[in-house]
Amino acid sequence: MGLPKIVVLGAGYGGLMTVSGLQKQLNHQEAEITLVNQNPYHYVTTKLHEPAAGTLSPEYARVPIKSVVDTNKVRFVEDRVTGFDPDKKEVYLENASDPLTYDDLVFALGANTETFGAKGVLENAHLINNLNSVRMIREHMEYMFSQYQNTEEKRDDLITIVVGGAGFTGIEYIGELVDRIPKLCREFDIPRDQVRLISIEAAPTALPGFDKELVDYAVQYLEERGVEFRLSTPIEEVTTDGVVLKGGEEIKAATVVWTCGVRGNSLLEEAGLETMRGRIKVDEYLRAPGYENLYVIGDNSLIINPENERPYPPTAQMATQQGETLAKNLVAALRGGSPAPFEFSLKGTLASLGRGSAIGVVGNKKLFGFSASVMKRLNDWRWFYLLGGLSLMMKKAKF
Ligand code: FAD
Ligand code: NAD
Repeated sequence: MGLPKIVVLGAGYGGLMTVSGLQKQLNHQEAEITLVNQNPYHYVTTKLHEPAAGTLSPEYARVPIKSVVDTNKVRFVEDRVTGFDPDKKEVYLENASDPLTYDDLVFALGANTETFGAKGVLENAHLINNLNSVRMIREHMEYMFSQYQNTEEKRDDLITIVVGGAGFTGIEYIGELVDRIPKLCREFDIPRDQVRLISIEAAPTALPGFDKELVDYAVQYLEERGVEFRLSTPIEEVTTDGVVLKGGEEIKAATVVWTCGVRGNSLLEEAGLETMRGRIKVDEYLRAPGYENLYVIGDNSLIINPENERPYPPTAQMATQQGETLAKNLVAALRGGSPAPFEFSLKGTLASLGRGSAIGVVGNKKLFGFSASVMKRLNDWRWFYLLGGLSLMMKKAKF
């Protein structure tokens, strides 16, 4: 009989934390571990708004998988997962004729974009999803600025940027734009007040559900730097010319970035599993209902917060803690031990407003401005530390 096979899908926060725990705790003879990811690198999703605005090199958010995974213990397969069958225990890959088989499967492929039925989103909007999509946003925006200067009529829509959704991604991204746009304006000789930055939000407030005092701080900070907020205004359609709002108003914008939320990965529904907005309501051991050996973590898992009976928002913090617990439980199971139930512990929430400012709550303390920004940066570095120890952290901390 061969070794038990553990297959981990996705080298994001959840997947890499699982693999990192397994490679630290298991000996060679205990299990065959396979990690599948569509790229040879991990991208740091929590930093993607920065390269999207052009305030940080995409290289910073990229970590080669082989630099953080012990390939003596973990087989890395660079391929795209196209499906899986939880009954047959098979995973299908784009470039392999035979399926991967497993004893335990960890599904950690991250989220898909939520459109909430708005038309034209996937066709016409830019998404802050991965390294390639954020490179494209930055280059598209720069091209629009250069086009503005190279055409007779100086079309305003070329230098109008719409950010759909004022949740955490939208606010962090527009915070970066506030830093970046003045530099672009100098580069392209465009007066700053010609450029429009518009944040459009369906709810009556930015960052719905977050602490009001912190939200007010963020909105004021951004408004003072030229951001226009349109609240209680759902986008109904993204066209090739801009956006159409509820009620029919049209805003012409050559750059529309959609940050209106996420849903679970479509591969879960395609495998016949029951989902809520694409996510699996997992049990206390992070398993999909009815499947002892199918673990779903990160943005694809749904766990109810007992304090308010609402799902916890999908975050890197959640994915990381799940990966840590799951690795320990998989090791315990291999050694005949009992698994520990997963319990999420919220350490805090921090959102950047560009390079020099942020807002957040850590413990029960509210943070604003520069001190919050320092905390946010330390938090970013913590991930590099968890991933690649002090050497990776020091390499990234130089920026
Ligand atoms: P991911 O980290 O998204 O990783 C999924 C991996 O699977 C990726 O490597 C992807 O390439 C791979 N993959 C996907 N599909 C396939 C396929 N078919 N085949 C093979 N490989 C595939 N959360 C926080 O807690 N704090 C923050 O400050 C924060 N900031 C954020 C900032 C931004 C701009 C964004 C967009 C999100 C932020 N989040 C933050 C949320 C956080 O990034 C996610 O919750 C987290 O990344 C989810 O981790 P995951 O492991 O589920 O998936
Ligand atoms: P989100 O769901 O948090 O925010 C999306 C926003 O878009 C909401 O405010 C929603 O009301 C709005 N919206 C939805 N449909 C709309 C429409 N048609 N028109 C206009 N507005 C619309 O999604 P997100 O910001 O992409 O974040 C995804 C997850 O990642 C969340 O769980 C979030 O907490 C997490 N995240 C965390 C951080 C952080 O901690 N710093 C940063 C980014 C993301």
